[in-house]
Amino acid sequence: MLAVKGLENSAVYSLFHRIILAVKRKTLIRYDMNTSRSVVEIVPTHIVTEGGGFKVRRPFRMGKVMSPFLLIDEMGPVNYGPGEAVGAPWHPHRGFETVTYLLDGRMRHEDSAGNQGELNPGDVQWMTAGRGIIHCEEPHEEILRDGGRTHGFQIWVNLPASHKMMRPRYQEVPSSESPTVEKNGVWARVIAGECMGEESAIDTKIPISLIHVKMNSGSRLSQELESGLNGMIYVFGGEIEIENETKVKISPVAFGVRTKQQIKDGELGILSEGDVISIKSKSDSEFLILAGPELNEPISRYGPFVMNTREEIEQAFIDYRNGNFVG
Ligand code: MN
Repeated sequence: MLAVKGLENSAVYSLFHRIILAVKRKTLIRYDMNTSRSVVEIVPTHIVTEGGGFKVRRPFRMGKVMSPFLLIDEMGPVNYGPGEAVGAPWHPHRGFETVTYLLDGRMRHEDSAGNQGELNPGDVQWMTAGRGIIHCEEPHEEILRDGGRTHGFQIWVNLPASHKMMRPRYQEVPSSESPTVEKNGVWARVIAGECMGEESAIDTKIPISLIHVKMNSGSRLSQELESGLNGMIYVFGGEIEIENETKVKISPVAFGVRTKQQIKDGELGILSEGDVISIKSKSDSEFLILAGPELNEPISRYGPFVMNTREEIEQAFIDYRNGNFVG
């Protein structure tokens, strides 16, 4: 569905859009004998400046459409010259998790509790902000001094109301310890969930799949996903096609327009319900598979705080000002 510029943030539009998406997600499966997932919407991306001035590529529709994910930011790829690299200086978070996955470059982080570390290509940092963390995420001094290529992701995963105020924690998985698998022209790193028999050890409060996949042109991947979870694919190289043998049986839903089943570089494909995604790579391709439950809770967001109500956001500001934030 095309967005109506200027209207997309209004409450009425947002409700309307959610209803259409819910109908698409559910209706497709009713006519689908095998439960293959289909693309129900293609969300394009735009470039946004974040933190201290770094550019990210981001799907332009966010929040409840991609529950439980709040944000999918592709950082770069960018080639910094000496002295040019920028990061995100000290800032707080409350009520959700940030997952940082580096593909190229080198980053360092430090937080108010005295934790610090660095991220190198292939490393994952799964940070649960919970009730509060104040941290900085910066380029490593080597990248600052000499410049270099930087590419990666930061994904915000919402927490259910019952866990928004949980104790903060980090799960750090260096590239050497993260499960990877390669079969028949398909390579995958399993950041969360399972793929081709490999399983991640990351602990999440709600079931989350986050898988980085690279496919050779013409190769195929059949990825199982628990049928109740929302599923989506963010492509950042090449083009893939979602194969659905029963697509002729799909009733014209949501105003008669059937979404194209190809997802290409810079697009987020939102998938219907179903328990398997059948992917064929139309070129050499690279993408993330993301899945998690529909939280079905109100989202109240202000900057780096994501809570359920405005009162909880105000409380976050009060706690931050009074020094009761971190705990
Ligand atoms: Mn942050």
